[in-house]
Amino acid sequence: MSHRLTVVGIGPGRADWCTPEVTAILAAATDLVGYAPYLATVPESCRARRHASDNRVEAERAELALDLASGGGDVVVVSSGDPGVFAMASAVLERLDEHPDRWRDVGVSVSPGITAAQALASRVGAPLGHDFCVISLSDVLKPWSVIERRLDAAASADFVIALYNPRSRHRPHQFADAITIVGRHRDPLTPVVVGRHVGRDEEVVTVTDIAHIDFDAIDMSTIIIIGSSTTCVLDRPTACRVYTPRTYVDPRTARG
Ligand code: SAH
Repeated sequence: MSHRLTVVGIGPGRADWCTPEVTAILAAATDLVGYAPYLATVPESCRARRHASDNRVEAERAELALDLASGGGDVVVVSSGDPGVFAMASAVLERLDEHPDRWRDVGVSVSPGITAAQALASRVGAPLGHDFCVISLSDVLKPWSVIERRLDAAASADFVIALYNPRSRHRPHQFADAITIVGRHRDPLTPVVVGRHVGRDEEVVTVTDIAHIDFDAIDMSTIIIIGSSTTCVLDRPTACRVYTPRTYVDPRTARG
């Protein structure tokens, strides 16, 4: 009997953005564990038992999955996007770290997916073409002061910045505060790409700039890419027109 736990990423929401490897792992699963809306996207043809949970109970979900695998089976934990980016792969490894002697019989592995930042970037061109970082604005698992420090450091180092978990009902003002911090280091006309439900039927993608972000259009189904000083928008009538050049010219030393 197998004692296997695989953490998979099903991509940002479109069936054909889920890798063939993940599709095969789902088809062979005995149990699926995950946040209910993600499990709902797994095809009915997958006959595994489904253990749907609320989004805020990552630790219990990871323990449940490890216990199920320990009892025998091919257990699959389903994350959206990539399972290693603000998702369940870390939650599972944290449980193993906390309990070194429990679940020794379970073979754990991770299968990658397309993360939301990559999906949005592809919609508009290549804004992640040079150094970039990803920052989650959720303060559920880390203090807001750490988020502020990281935003300031990333912006001052001129990274392109992708913001995940940008704005929830519990903290409606923090997204605007984050933009204020980044704006201290960037021209107000720096390109910003906003993607809501990227890859899903309801997808809306907008190219704007730091000074013109529509804060009311940002929610937890949105990802934002803020350009660096070198990110530009081509004057072309197609969607594919935002890019960050491969060659970096430091704006502080560049001569006009
Ligand atoms: N593991 C996921 C990220 C989980 S954090 C990944 O790799 O993509 C959840 C956040 O991801 C959301 O609040 C949102 O900022 C972003 N996100 C995930 N899917 C998205 C999509 N289809 N469109 C826009 N943003 C998305």
